[in-house]
Amino acid sequence: MIPQEQKMEALVSLCKRRGFIFPSSEIYGGFAAVYDYGPYGVELINTLKREWWRAMVQRRSDVVGLDSAIFMHPKIWEASGHVAGFSDPLTECKTCHARLRADHLLEEIGVEADEKMDEASINELLEASKDRLRCPKCGQREFTPVKKFNLLVQSNLGNFTGDWTKEPVYLRGETCQGIYVNYKNILDSMRVKVPFGIAQIGKAFRNEITARQFVFRTREFEQMEMQYFTSPAQEMEEYERLRAARWQFYLDLGMNPGHIRWHEHERLVFYAKRAFDIEYEYPFGWKELEGVHARGDYDLTQHAKFSGQALNYLDPYTQERYVPHIVESSVGVGRMALAFLSEAFAEEELADGESRMVLRFHPRLAPIKMAVMPLQKKDGLSELAETLATNLRRTNFMIEYDEGGSIGKRYRRQDEIGTPWCVTVDYQTKEDGTVTIRERDAMTQTRIALQDVPAWLQEHMN
Ligand code: ATP
Repeated sequence: MIPQEQKMEALVSLCKRRGFIFPSSEIYGGFAAVYDYGPYGVELINTLKREWWRAMVQRRSDVVGLDSAIFMHPKIWEASGHVAGFSDPLTECKTCHARLRADHLLEEIGVEADEKMDEASINELLEASKDRLRCPKCGQREFTPVKKFNLLVQSNLGNFTGDWTKEPVYLRGETCQGIYVNYKNILDSMRVKVPFGIAQIGKAFRNEITARQFVFRTREFEQMEMQYFTSPAQEMEEYERLRAARWQFYLDLGMNPGHIRWHEHERLVFYAKRAFDIEYEYPFGWKELEGVHARGDYDLTQHAKFSGQALNYLDPYTQERYVPHIVESSVGVGRMALAFLSEAFAEEELADGESRMVLRFHPRLAPIKMAVMPLQKKDGLSELAETLATNLRRTNFMIEYDEGGSIGKRYRRQDEIGTPWCVTVDYQTKEDGTVTIRERDAMTQTRIALQDVPAWLQEHMN
């Protein structure tokens, strides 16, 4: 068994060795806090996105989809509070890595600090009071030097003069702003009635100061967000419904309920009604996986104010007019992938004294559903196996054909990428037309007729 502290290292190395996740730009020495998904990684994240879309859009009658652009009007980020709110003096607790506002830390101990002070002045204040500072999250006392940092990533889009004092265009820092600014378009073009939701999956960018822990926190990442518009009266009821749905999502994909938990925010942002995160027990500890928040009418009110457009709703039944309240769920694809990878990862001692690494994915999440192998490359076994692989691909599941190396090594490789079933064509196949199906977890083998394999796979995937 791998000790917890080595588990992360082993997982990162497996992800690279087996084509799940590569560090960005590696042949150029790497590019911090950005990662590329390899052939199996892209299968995994595409599956997670598909599962999310099915649960949040396709199986519901009250949610519609959206794909808004990464570039948006710069005013949007003023309205959202990101332009002002993200340029704070930030410091980080060296123990729990909580990012904290240095001015708030100082205020806690009664030292006046203005957030507009320069870095050097705030650092002096921190240094002078360092014996009294405490991390509000973990209680520890060591902090990194302050950096004034705006998390928004700037671009030079449309800036042909190179004059950087002009209003910069940002790469979006979250996908939900694209949803808020399309609220009116959706209302006008679709037959939706409050309560309804808008869902979106897309890239977001943040100049994260503390980017580490693999794909848990990256500077370019993908978000899956659903913003649900409700009447003020129904907000909390819908919030509880959303929380229940998001919890169930993880259970349906085989998550051990003991490895996720709800964490309620104690300090709410001023507009929020209630905020819970779903935390996952990553190898480096319990950390936020997904946020489920009740946001009140803040978002639409802000955009109405900054755009000058009315963003309210006339209830057709009660004739009541109001600005809809929003409950949201928001999760990063990479963070979710890392949770399911950690969940699936195990190193096991086998009966024969050997050990194996295995990703015990729920079959729905496994990048490859079935691997087809001839016992030997000769005597016509390859041809039989290749034909079987071609037939299996018609099921639309991802299939791999592998004829290289000993059968044991090929099984190990499939275990490491989490393939639930391996089919082997052997000499008996030539005699009686049967093949063996080897199951990843129990490692049991059963014989079935070659022509029944596609139906067998379909049945087991359902
Ligand atoms: P954290 O406190 O970890 O920085 P956050 O509270 O800033 O996260 P939100 O702004 O609420 O996160 O974003 C919603 C979700 O988006 C998070 O729960 C997480 O799953 C994902 N997410 C946010 N930032 C990142 C990132 N840098 N890399 C990967 N996923 C991210």
